[in-house]
Amino acid sequence: GVDVGGGGGKERILVSVRLRPLNEKEIARNDLCDWECINDTSIIFRNSLRERSGFPIAYTFDRVFGGECNSKQVYEEAAREVALSVVSGINSTIFAYGQTSSGKTYTMTGITEYTVVDIFDYMQAHEERAFVLKFSAIEIYNEAVKDLLSNDNTPLRLLDDPERGTIVEKLTEVTLRDWSHLKELLLVCAAQRKIGETLLNEMSSRSHQIIKLTIESSAREFLGKGKSSSLVASVNFVDLAGSERASQALSAGSRLKEGCHINRSLLTLGTVIRKLSKGRHGHVPYRDSKLTRILQPSLGGNARTAIICTMCPARSHLEQSRNTLLFASCAK
Ligand code: ADP
Ligand code: MG
Repeated sequence: GVDVGGGGGKERILVSVRLRPLNEKEIARNDLCDWECINDTSIIFRNSLRERSGFPIAYTFDRVFGGECNSKQVYEEAAREVALSVVSGINSTIFAYGQTSSGKTYTMTGITEYTVVDIFDYMQAHEERAFVLKFSAIEIYNEAVKDLLSNDNTPLRLLDDPERGTIVEKLTEVTLRDWSHLKELLLVCAAQRKIGETLLNEMSSRSHQIIKLTIESSAREFLGKGKSSSLVASVNFVDLAGSERASQALSAGSRLKEGCHINRSLLTLGTVIRKLSKGRHGHVPYRDSKLTRILQPSLGGNARTAIICTMCPARSHLEQSRNTLLFASCAK
């Protein structure tokens, strides 16, 4: 079977690739589909030009998903185990990485919803414990942190708490009542991102969204008896800025400075992920960006991480798809 458990070490990052189907526009312009998932773990480049391109022909990951796979499958096989470690008190992070329009938001929304369904099921099945499930959401744009559940546009400050690590000051946290409450909150977040989008062109492709669920639980038999057996852990769902921003930032010349500024979080994340995947020897530069500072307690250490790299299969996106696969390969 497919090893979604992290194999020999829980420290390993679970890396998957999801190809979306060609969309109507791509079909209408006779765009070609260059990529094919030949089994559960391998994706191949089947373009006849490949001999000249020098690309590897096949790429292997923990799991690959073709255009026919739905989000439930992606959740179950590429995210579920990592996300649900939260009920055992283990922090985790699920990332969607890929170019704009490759399906990051589509994938992340589905994964967030399925996770919440499973967490509520778990809470119901464990009546011996008392649970509280909290929801918060932020957007990071140009290294400014914004609360997606608030109309206030003032950037939030990050504070270093000796016990809890980096915390986002004044962030709204809402206790989730049920699944429909989650749907409501996701709509509020999407609307907030839309507002940003109309104010600033291309904002959503340049910003990162982090939805954080925190689950607190304690054994009922100890409640009020002074003893405690409480667990607190968080799972983060990270819808990253379009990865085309990272390659742009790395390109030489006058764009470099602007690109670096816009993408500090994305570039730093790449460095952090590479270090962690190599067994985290030496310095990991969490503090170099807002995104990695905020996620530090849920990356590395005991935490679990899954990355789902989304790809447009069309030939017109070949360059970006190749960059995405290079990122995915480095994260393994
Ligand atoms: P991104 O967040 O990476 O910019 P989106 O998630 O917004 O991309 O996806 C772009 C469009 O493609 C959306 O209309 C979305 O509904 C659609 N889409 C993405 N992935 C899939 C998929 N696997 N199956 C069907 N439609 C998809
Ligand atoms: Mg998106």
